[in-house]
Amino acid sequence: MSGAYLELRNLRKEFGDFVAINNISLRIQKGEFITFLGPSGSGKSTTLYAIAGFIEPNAGDVLLNGRSLVRVSPNHRDIGMVFQRYTLFPHLTVAENIAFPLRVRRRPKAEIEAKVKEMLDLVHLTPMRDRKPAQLSGGQQQRVALARALAYDPQILLMDEPLSALDKKLREDIQAEIERIHLETGVTIIYVTHDQEEALRLSDRIVLFNHGGIEQVGTGEDLYDHPVSTFTAGFIGNSN
Ligand code: ADP
Ligand code: MG
Repeated sequence: MSGAYLELRNLRKEFGDFVAINNISLRIQKGEFITFLGPSGSGKSTTLYAIAGFIEPNAGDVLLNGRSLVRVSPNHRDIGMVFQRYTLFPHLTVAENIAFPLRVRRRPKAEIEAKVKEMLDLVHLTPMRDRKPAQLSGGQQQRVALARALAYDPQILLMDEPLSALDKKLREDIQAEIERIHLETGVTIIYVTHDQEEALRLSDRIVLFNHGGIEQVGTGEDLYDHPVSTFTAGFIGNSN
């Protein structure tokens, strides 16, 4: 059972007597771009939050390099996160927002300044460094959230439907940016979406969720050409 960078072992989460996820097992390699795809309510976010440490699973384990994370608090997991409406701090500038996670970690001032500069460059927002979030477009705000999530060099970046509030053109621009950042930084990405086009475009592998379980795992081509079920065929196939 070795070799996996991040491993989910038989994860289960219940809310009251409702089973949100059951028996989720998955092995992810370092640097992979993995997408959790599936209909609303299928357990994608719950699985992501268990990886992040926001929720404690009722059973199962999350292992990073073979070490269990279950008792590690979210702030000590080295995991960056971007959500659909990831609220930037409205009273802080772009640069201060990006610096925030480094300040919390008490990094030296010179290191923080250098890192903020590097991150602004990475997401192409250097000219916006002194603006407040309200003075940015939705897409620019998401890029600041991305820069902030990457600022402390997390081992893993989790994104929960980060672009679903944006229009199509903007979504495509930021998708390209996320692809570029993945290539440039080599960070392991777990990306949640219910949009199969987005999943097919971005992912090394797709994990297709159905009713709290994993229906099928594979490359986009695998799922498209060799669906194991009518559910996979219907979800990946010609639904638009
Ligand atoms: P997805 O992200 O795929 O849309 P979720 O993981 O958010 O799905 O939710 C899976 C199921 O668990 C849904 O039926 C949802 O209503 C339920 N659920 C999620 N979080 C909670 C919660 N805090 N309390 C009760 N039910 C929840
Ligand atoms: Mg969700």
